[in-house]
Parts: sequence; C-alpha cells; structure tokens
Amino acid sequence: MLLIQKGPEPRTLSASKQSGLEEFDAVPRDVKQAIRDALVDEQRGLCCYCMRRIDATAAGMKIEHFESRANRDRQLSWDNLLAACDGATGGPPEPRHCDTLKGDRPLSISPLKQSDLRALTYSRTGELRHGTEALQRELGTADEPGILNLNGETHVRNRQRALLAFRDSFTKRHAGHWTAEQLRRELSSVESGGRLPPYWGIVRDWVQRQTAKHSAG
Ligand SMILES: [Zn+2]
Repeated sequence: MLLIQKGPEPRTLSASKQSGLEEFDAVPRDVKQAIRDALVDEQRGLCCYCMRRIDATAAGMKIEHFESRANRDRQLSWDNLLAACDGATGGPPEPRHCDTLKGDRPLSISPLKQSDLRALTYSRTGELRHGTEALQRELGTADEPGILNLNGETHVRNRQRALLAFRDSFTKRHAGHWTAEQLRRELSSVESGGRLPPYWGIVRDWVQRQTAKHSAG
C-alpha cells in the first residue's frame, strides 16, 4: 500500500452529478470509463491495496468504494473511489483479497491517509507489517486473512521477487559499489515515470532504509 493522492474528479462525473445522478449503478458507461482512467492514473497502474498491476478496463480492475456502497451519500464521492484488482490471484486454491474479500466491511487503514501508512514496513521475506496491531489485523497475517489478505502466500512471494529483481539489477550495474545518492537517483528515475512497477512499496521501503543507513554511515 502506498499513499494515493487524489486529483480532481472527471469532468463528466461532475456534470452527471449536477444533472441529478445519485447512484453508482446509474453511472453511464462512458462516465464509468472516465472514472477508471482517472483512478488508474492517480494510482499509477497499481491496485490501491495489494499493488498488483491493474488496467483501466472493466476486466482489468474494479471500482472500489472505500466506504461501502451501503452508505448511499458516498457512492459517487470522488474521495471514496479507488481502483482495486480483481481480488483473486489464480483460481479456487488462492484465497481472495483486496476489495473482493473486504466486501461491505468497514476498513480503518486507508491508502489516502499518510498517518496510517507511516508505520507500514516490509520484512526481508516480503511480509507487510504495521506497527498498530488493529491495522495489522486488517491487512492480514500469514495465518489470518483479516479484511484485505495482503500477507497471503502469493503476495508475499511476489513482493520478495520484486525487491530481489530491483536489488539485483541495481547492484549488478554498480558492480557491488554504490552510494546512497546513486540509489536515491535510481528510485526517483523509476518514480518519475507514469506507471510504477507492481509491488513497488517494498522496493521504496528498502531503498529508503538503505539510503538512511548509508547516509548515516
Ligand atoms: Zn489488490
């Protein structure tokens, strides 16, 4: 999970609301597509929760309501809409995650709140950890899926792979000798592009810890 900074809502959504649109189910097809495009841009191509790759198509993502659609006043609030993955990574043995598992349950941890994300870290093996126990329970652990199931086997393995791939490529190019400044530059060169690589959160976390360590040393 990385911080998502909301931009303005699509103009077609504002116009539809001004013309009396009140329910998400009544959103016209072209407006729904404008919503997908804007959400995927804001989230730089990644699921708001697990950070898998998503695409701005009906099949490539879900429009997630952070506060459930049961709260009718918030059905069309731009700051309540996020883009999530399909929540099922590979058939029946894979437990569900993200919006698909969450359903209508309320979630406290929010990818829109920096204060919630400050205590998020990753273990070397790819587990997502939170300093607050209640929020860790929402994210899930290896044994308990919680609300989002972000520490299921597939996610943990994919995170570890994402980190190894970045580290290998970076350290090989610098033949094992690198400075904190080079690492920082590598991070900003990836982040200055449009889409972020899947599971980018673990890479950013690692880079930040490495650069802090090297700068201190
Ligand atoms: Zn997801």
